[in-house]
Amino acid sequence: MSDVRNVIIIGSGPAGYTAALYTARASLKPLVFEGAVTAGGALMNTTEVENFPGFRDGIMGPELMDNMRAQAERFGAELVPDDIVSVDLTGEIKTVTDTSGTVHKAKAVIVATGSQYRKLGLPNEDALSGRGVSWCATCDGFFFKDQDIAVVGGGDTAMEEATFLSRFAKSVTIIHRRDTLRASKAMQERAFADPKIKFIWDSEVAEIQGDQKLSGLKLRNVKTGELTDLAVTGLFIAIGHDPRTELFQGQLDLDEEGYLKVASPSTRTNIAGVFAAGDVVDHTYRQAITAAGTGCSAALDAERYLAALA
Ligand code: FAD
Repeated sequence: MSDVRNVIIIGSGPAGYTAALYTARASLKPLVFEGAVTAGGALMNTTEVENFPGFRDGIMGPELMDNMRAQAERFGAELVPDDIVSVDLTGEIKTVTDTSGTVHKAKAVIVATGSQYRKLGLPNEDALSGRGVSWCATCDGFFFKDQDIAVVGGGDTAMEEATFLSRFAKSVTIIHRRDTLRASKAMQERAFADPKIKFIWDSEVAEIQGDQKLSGLKLRNVKTGELTDLAVTGLFIAIGHDPRTELFQGQLDLDEEGYLKVASPSTRTNIAGVFAAGDVVDHTYRQAITAAGTGCSAALDAERYLAALA
């Protein structure tokens, strides 16, 4: 059993790297699969992070993630920039397979694969991410003080983001494809009652404009096809998230939205020896610090599980 690791971690955002740091410091020599193209996780796609404690003046997302990576490596975490493409978590010894077909074995697995914000699929969307285009009002709302901004979506998240953003912004325009909202009645009423929030119905974003920064949107009325311009410096896309859980379907329990289920407040999944942390579990908070926090919890849960096996 010499080729059986103590713990394999799948994912390299704040949850994965924090789990790596803690398990490495516990001398468990974790093997971490960081992902082939997206090592470092969601914060690699942003600019300034102002709400991660310990950085008084803020820190750039990629720099924060480089620091987390280096800190985990310093204590002996083995980091592999590759994807895991299949898993068998059911036995006492778990196996995960990388893109070359190599099978890796471990007694415990920590899943920290994050979740993907749904995108509009427009050309400038990625280029202007962190430069006016955002998926997180809690993270970025503060940057849009006294500015005109837009929110895309018609569900609870969109209403919550718009209501939150109206504290900072000069105006918030909600752009929705239909003429009614999906959001709960209470959330709708709060948005309708907010004097800073207005609605553009039956419309979608046709173009995201701007060179280095967002300068405006072109909207298309889905009923008439008419195109109009909307001058905004912020665009918040609130059309949902997809947790990265396809790999685990049929083995780990998922909730109705596809997130991994854990026995809260622990990080234990339905399979002994498999733990989950970060945004792949969390549809409520979705912050770097909460992901790091549950990454720590998963490491401690794994450590205790392994100690009990010994
Ligand atoms: P992620 O950061 O999503 O990392 C998951 C990792 O798992 C990825 O690297 C991925 O490659 C890897 N992975 C997935 N599947 C596999 C696989 N099969 N094999 C190997 N690896 C895999 N939060 C804040 O607190 N403050 C902010 O200012 C802030 N700004 C944000 C800006 C943007 C643009 C975005 C998108 C998010 C922002 N957030 C912010 C939210 C924050 O980034 C997330 O809450 C946090 O990154 C979640 O961490 P995580 O570790 O759970 O997952």
